[in-house]
This record gives sequence, structure tokens and C-alpha cells, in this order.
Amino acid sequence: MAKPINKRYNDLKSYWRNLFGCNVHKLQIDAGFTCPNRDGLVATGGCIYCDGRGSKLRQQGELPSVAEQIASGKKYYKPHASKYIAYFQTFTNTYAPVEKLRDLYDEALAQEDVIGLSIGTRPDCLAPDVIELLSEYAKKYHIWVELGLQSVHDKTLKLINRGHNFQQFSDAVNSLNGSGLNICVHIIIGLPGESDEDVLTTAKTLASLPVQGIKIHSLLALEGTALGEMYKKGTMSMITKEKYVSLVADVLEILPPKMVIQRLTADGYRDIFLAPDWAMNKLDVLNSINKELARRDSYQGKHYQHLKK
Ligand code: SF4
Repeated sequence: MAKPINKRYNDLKSYWRNLFGCNVHKLQIDAGFTCPNRDGLVATGGCIYCDGRGSKLRQQGELPSVAEQIASGKKYYKPHASKYIAYFQTFTNTYAPVEKLRDLYDEALAQEDVIGLSIGTRPDCLAPDVIELLSEYAKKYHIWVELGLQSVHDKTLKLINRGHNFQQFSDAVNSLNGSGLNICVHIIIGLPGESDEDVLTTAKTLASLPVQGIKIHSLLALEGTALGEMYKKGTMSMITKEKYVSLVADVLEILPPKMVIQRLTADGYRDIFLAPDWAMNKLDVLNSINKELARRDSYQGKHYQHLKK
């Protein structure tokens, strides 16, 4: 399989290889969670870009157990990987009583060669008992908490119906800080109403916080979402590849050199994908980002020290 050209940023695969001395892969888990931004606790309808279908497994019927999902995920990678991180990915993976969370996470960590967890969640769904549980695991395992944020701007968070504001995110980061947990923040480039400056402000803000990792996605319009409807009606235009690549390079230059870059592309199911077309070719996007950094003779963190002064 083709590989991205040389990277000028601290990518997750290399980070884990250096840390553990072997290949480490994430195994995606759908543990049957829902989301408070969809079921009415916080809001209904969810974020305007969220298709609400969950994983392919969920669409096919009854979910296999966590152990079964890990076993089938391992088959895909072996013999290339020797260790795994169980990635609780679908919807909000801390949205349940702590006893249920413990059972699910324990089940994952009991599987052979699973050395840690990555828990995808929302900033407003991290009760103190959940943080306590996760920080207990962090004493023995490699644990990431992945916080959906998308933008630091409240006007954008409102527009995309995130159901939380920046202050709630900041509070969550403060609560997690010092607990032994690694924090990864998800942001989206190309959000409606956002200028280039807005995107750079998001990057500068995250660069100043105790955040260890980031996932950067381009906004995708998917069938069955509010954003997809806006796109079809022509009230929303999608970011071009050139603009996305340029902004990702700008953002990488701002971020701390040690921050782990977990993703630079977005994923959407092909059967509901509307736009932008270029986002479907992830390897091309990654190579374009690397080429842009090379063209600038630049790299992650180039402007970070400057920012700190
Ligand atoms: S928080 Fe995540 S799961 Fe919930 S509606 Fe938004 S994108 Fe969907």
C-alpha cells in the first residue's frame, strides 16, 4: 500500500513506536453508547455534521461484545502490530454510570496485547467519578481522553449545535490536567462562518493549554445531516483542498512540537458522502500537507516559541 511522503510533524504512529518500541494500532470499538446531544439531555438533533448512524457494526444489528470487537480488529492488523489501544469511538463513550464504564473498559484492558484505551467523549460528559476511574487506569495503562471541541469560538459552537461552550471545554481540560491522562482535542477546519483567523485562534488557544494530542478534520457534508441539507440547498460552501492544506500547515506551525498529531483527515461513510470530493482521497491530502510544509521549509512548532514570547 502507498505511504505518505516524509512527515514534518509528530505523528501518532511514530510517537507510539518511539514510546513502546513496536507498532501500536487503535482498534475501534462501538460499545453501544448514545450521545446527550442527540437524546435530549443536552439537545436534540446533534451536531449539524453528525449523521447519527453509529458504526457499521451497529447498523448491521446486535453489537458484538467489546472482546469480540477487539479480536476481529486484531485479525486485520496481525502480524504487523504487536500492541493495541482499544478506541471507544462511537458517540459519547463516557455517557453511562461509572460501574458500566468500568465493566466495558475492564473488558477491553483484559484482552491480550491491549496496552491502553482511547475514550472519545464530550467536554460536558466527564463527571468527577469518571475522571477518577480513568486516572486509576492511567497508573497502569496508556490512556487518552479524546475531547470533541471543533472550535474555541462560542458563536461557531452554537451554530453547529455542539451543546457546550468553550468554558465547559476549558473546565474539562483543567479537571483532566495532572490526572495522568493524555488529552487529545478534535478540531474541524472549514466550519460555517469561520475565517482563517478564527482557525488560527483555535490553534493558538490549544497550543497554550495542557493538551497532548490533536485530531484535525476537514468539515464533511453527509447525507441525512443538517449540514448536508445546507450544502444541498447551496447555503453552505465547502472548503477547498488548497485552503485546507494551507490552514493545516499554518496550524501545525503554531502547535507545540511535542503535541501528538493523531489525524489530519476526516472520515465519512461513502454511501452518505456529499462533499468535498477531495476529502475522500486521504493519502493525497496527507501528501499535499507534507508537500506544503516542505515548500515552506517548515514543520510542526516552527512558530510555537515565537508565540510563547
Ligand atoms: S457530540 Fe459527537 S456523537 Fe454527539 S452529536 Fe456531536 S458529533 Fe454526534
